Amino acid sequence: MATTSRGFPLLLTFDLDCETMWTARDASYAKRPILMSQGAYGWKVGLQRVLALLERFQARATFFVPGIVAERQPHTVELILKGGHEIAHHSYSHRWIVNLSPEEEHEEFQKGMEVLTRRAGYRPRGWRSPAAEFSEHTLGMIEEYGFDYSSNFFDDDSPYLLTINGRRTRIVELPFRWVLDDAPFFQYSIVLPGRTMQAPSAVLEAWKSEFDVLYAEERMMMVGMHPEIIGQPSRLKVLEGLLLHAQSHPGVWIDRCDRITDDMRILLEAGA
Ligand SMILES: [Zn+2]
Repeated sequence: MATTSRGFPLLLTFDLDCETMWTARDASYAKRPILMSQGAYGWKVGLQRVLALLERFQARATFFVPGIVAERQPHTVELILKGGHEIAHHSYSHRWIVNLSPEEEHEEFQKGMEVLTRRAGYRPRGWRSPAAEFSEHTLGMIEEYGFDYSSNFFDDDSPYLLTINGRRTRIVELPFRWVLDDAPFFQYSIVLPGRTMQAPSAVLEAWKSEFDVLYAEERMMMVGMHPEIIGQPSRLKVLEGLLLHAQSHPGVWIDRCDRITDDMRILLEAGA
């Protein structure tokens, strides 16, 4: 069954982690300027390159932004909004949830929501966890903060309505998988032992193959990227290649998560 009324949904999402990609692993990394500069590439160069490509393809996307990045680099939010894209919630400091107390986790939701609402001019409607981890309290907080969608779980290739404490909610889950994320292929650093860089052609092959199967099965394709990674010249070619591949197929709907969620929810609730 098709998951939207407007064709096959291709959701391009960008987690603007920047320096928090490193400080979330270890707060002392803040004292390592070269490591931090790998994150700064996201707001200095990568974001602008990604936005220019999206503009060229007239594609609208969703940016999951940690509150602290919006606070320190307000121009990033301005550029994203100017391009017609969506700002969504990606915690405040990107600290890994498994290391937080329930109070600290709550603070991450609250502070992130305050900063992003102020900078974006609206309350973010979607939430993605830092580093793909939940605590036993996270689902409840997604509901408490009134999010319309979540993009976190790895258990499906189609959207579904989240069940929380045994109750089916109206929150649409937009699942993804590591193969649809740029970081496992490309994120390289001397502090990440065992990681090697992949050729962009290999990643494009993986993403085109994913597209072909998901499109044939009338599911959805959720791609998770990071401007500091995919925004590097050779890597941006992968995103360009995916967009060209998608455009060569009829009935592909590339848009922001909020708009696609609104459409999916009608079908999900009707089909229940
Ligand atoms: Zn992130």
